[in-house]
Amino acid sequence: MQGVITKEGFNFGFDPFKCSSCEGNCCIGESGYIWCTPKEIDDMSQFLGEKRGEFTLKYTKKVGYKISLCEIESKGNFSCIFFDLDKKACQIYPVRPKQCRTFPFWKHFNENIKEVVKECPGIII
Ligand code: SF4
Ligand code: SF4
Repeated sequence: MQGVITKEGFNFGFDPFKCSSCEGNCCIGESGYIWCTPKEIDDMSQFLGEKRGEFTLKYTKKVGYKISLCEIESKGNFSCIFFDLDKKACQIYPVRPKQCRTFPFWKHFNENIKEVVKECPGIII
């Protein structure tokens, strides 16, 4: 199929054109973690024109030794703090963390394909 992305080692493909009609399922829904590295925090704070310390306080939380972006809860649904619910778009798209950039090609989904099919309409099996 034209435009479908495949990756070695993955038993599914991904059609990125589905993102335009999807409401951002990978950024909203059940609560989860959006891990970010110190370098990614630097990039995101620069992108927003904020000091690193302010960015960290406003948008991230510590989970053990790791750092995740915060979520916003509304009526039992969670969304990433950078997801614009009106525009259905990521507000920091060019500098989003690697975890977001590599979705849906996460090793976890090879063994849990039903999970990603339920979440992402772009999955091709
Ligand atoms: S869930 Fe899939 S189709 Fe929807 S925005 Fe995310 S990657 Fe695109
Ligand atoms: S950083 Fe952007 S792409 Fe990643 S979960 Fe948040 S809104 Fe979605």
